[in-house]
Amino acid sequence: MDIKIRIHNLWMALVVLLLACHCEGTPPKLTEKPAIKANQPFNVILLIGDGMGLSQLSSSFYFSDQLPNFARFKTIGLSNVIAANSKITDSAAGATSFASGIKTFNGAIGVDMDKQPVENIVELLSKENYQTGLIATSSITHATPASFYAHVASRDWEEQIAEQMATSPIDFFAGGGLKFFQNRKDGKNILDLLKTNGFEIYTDSMEKEIDGNKKHAFILGEEDMPKMIEGRGDFLVKSTQKALTYFDKSNSPFFLMVEGSQIDWAGHDNVTDYLITELLDFDQMVGSVLDYAEKEGNTLVIVTADHETGGFTLSGKVIGQNSKGEDEHDYNDIVPTFSTTGHSASLIPVLAFGPGSNHFSGFYQNSDVYHKMLKALDK
Ligand code: MG
Ligand code: ZN
Repeated sequence: MDIKIRIHNLWMALVVLLLACHCEGTPPKLTEKPAIKANQPFNVILLIGDGMGLSQLSSSFYFSDQLPNFARFKTIGLSNVIAANSKITDSAAGATSFASGIKTFNGAIGVDMDKQPVENIVELLSKENYQTGLIATSSITHATPASFYAHVASRDWEEQIAEQMATSPIDFFAGGGLKFFQNRKDGKNILDLLKTNGFEIYTDSMEKEIDGNKKHAFILGEEDMPKMIEGRGDFLVKSTQKALTYFDKSNSPFFLMVEGSQIDWAGHDNVTDYLITELLDFDQMVGSVLDYAEKEGNTLVIVTADHETGGFTLSGKVIGQNSKGEDEHDYNDIVPTFSTTGHSASLIPVLAFGPGSNHFSGFYQNSDVYHKMLKALDK
């Protein structure tokens, strides 16, 4: 055969190969950010206050000197958070509904009623070149964040969940949970696996200059992050700002989930100071995210909760009893009380801001939050 024809054939084969790679792979990275569209967000930020029912949210209006950032939202909805197998949900089933758009059983992380994995929003969007991030004040392997990257039949399998982080599409995460990544019962070192998969790992501080071309893991506590009343400081605001700075280094769109994990734990403990300090910390982070969204104009921000915890109530202080033996109240003195150490069945507020927020008014299911996010993104 003529050598020229051979070379020509070789070139044609190479061109076909390149075209095939291009079609089957992820779309090319954007060289600049696209123009802002009125009802279609470029980025989505989902903020989950674990256990934050309407009474918890209301307390931010009474136990702070300033108007809460929650008051900056114009679009409000209510969601029914019932699980597939129970009238009262847990955080695993609840977060799986947000992450994957299905109803499942309590304890399930990213799996359906048959314990089969269901694709989550992080996996779906990362195939379209979105960058993705997760932040929590619990361990990053706890039920809420886990439902955005792992697929296991039980929320208790935190070592398995940590292992699945290493191969997930997540680009940035911050939270606690070091003990599930190293010095594990099964002897595996998942920090090594994270490194192999391109993560830079930080275990001491958020104060790091980070590279936009790498993935970043901030694992800052053995298990949980400290409570606000025990000195967590500004971790939640700082890590959220760090994630936004990281995403801004690229022209790709992003999906970020940030969880105020311990509002729930304060509800379980029935401790008001713990609850209100966690709630106000969450509200401060919400404010910093709204500042970003107002400035950029291209980001949909959603604030919601997986369920209410504690049967929290803002009632008037009992100051005595009348002649019939009924309680008398001082309606100018609010005393928070709890009716349970568990979760309750209350409908849950959903607040939305930015392009696409119009989808979030009305009554709907927690699983619809997922479908509404995708609808807003025109997916
Ligand atoms: Mg949680
Ligand atoms: Zn709980």
